[in-house]
Order: sequence, then C-alpha cells, then structure tokens
Amino acid sequence: MNLKSVCVYCSASNRLDGIYTEAAVELGQEIANRGLRMVYGGGNTGLMGAASNAVIDNGGFVTGFSPEHLKDREAPNNRVQDLHIVDTMHTRKQKMFEASDAFIVLPGGFGTLDETFEVITWRQLGLHDKPVVLVNINNYWTHLQELMERIIVEKFASDGHRAFYSFVDSVPEAFKVLENTPELQQTPDIRWV
Ligand code: AMP
Repeated sequence: MNLKSVCVYCSASNRLDGIYTEAAVELGQEIANRGLRMVYGGGNTGLMGAASNAVIDNGGFVTGFSPEHLKDREAPNNRVQDLHIVDTMHTRKQKMFEASDAFIVLPGGFGTLDETFEVITWRQLGLHDKPVVLVNINNYWTHLQELMERIIVEKFASDGHRAFYSFVDSVPEAFKVLENTPELQQTPDIRWV
C-alpha cells in the first residue's frame, strides 16, 4: 500500500523492561528510514517518548496530539515538529486516526488497548480499511491474541474479522505486513448474528 503516515499506539510507562524500549527505538528508526511520518499521542514518556525521539534522532517527522488536561501527568514531547494540543481524549483519538494510513501497536496498557480496539471496531463497522498490526514483543500480546481467537471461535465475532488485524513478532515484520497490504481492501462479508 501507499504508506505515508503510521500511527503508533504504545505504553506511556517509564518502568518497563529494556526489551520494550529497544523495540520502540527500532520502530522509530524504521519509520524515519522509510521516510514515513509517525503519528502518536504526543507524549514524552515510556515507549511513546522512545519511539518519537528515535524518529526525530534519525531525521524523521512526527505529528503528536496531546490533550490539554494531561499536560502535567503526561508531558508532551516538545521536540515533536508537529505537536497539537487538543481538548479531549476523543479529539486526540479522532485526529490520530484521520492523520494515519495504518496502525502499529507496540506493548502497552489500558490506554493502548482502548486505542487499538477503537480502530479494530471501527473497521468491524466498515468505517475504514486501514491495517492494524500488533507487534508481539517478548510474547506480550500472546494472551490477547488467544483471547481474540477465542472470541471468533465462540462466534462473538466472525471469521472475517481476523482480516482486520495482524500479529507479528518483530518490528520489521510489521512493515512486511503493511507492504503486502493491498491499496483498497475488500471488507469481508460480516455476519452480525
Ligand atoms: P497506556 O497504554 O495505558 O500506557 O496508555 C498509552 C496512551 O494511551 C497514553 O498516552 C494515554 O494517555 C492514552 N490513553 C489512555 N486512555 C485513553 C483514552 N480513553 N483515549 C485516548 N487515549 C488514551
């Protein structure tokens, strides 16, 4: 696909094992080296800070959407070239969605899950056809992948919903998935009941 902007969802925590930070830095380097724009939540902590700083350190361009009310708890990264202070979390998510061609999800907590499931469910509702790739660093997402498979096997979602997301084990594999994503995807036949 013709990829220009990649949205990154990931942890804001500063207390993580280095294996996660390394993956965030690798992702930032890949985004910059590929001439892509990184879109994210604008913060300077955790994997969000590591990935955004790695893009900038490698000559790349970052767009961030940081909510006004979080400025004390989740300081914005002032190195970000295109930083927007927005009014609500909903505005933040909507702007991140609109600015992006695809979504890459690194390990994260409840905020990351909220953001990830919003774009997966919007895809389920036929609101977009942008790819969502979860990077399973250190097997962090394995239980989630199993739960999502169970959701489908038990028919809480359809077989076709598997097409709305991918799990990969490394950052380079995430870009392989995006490179192999066709320009316009067919929305699978969704059975609701
Ligand atoms: P976490 O995965 O919990 O470390 O959070 C990652 C990012 O998601 C942080 O920037 C949070 O501010 C953000 N976040 C948390 N909850 C929400 C929400 N409901 N809507 C948008 N962003 C959120």
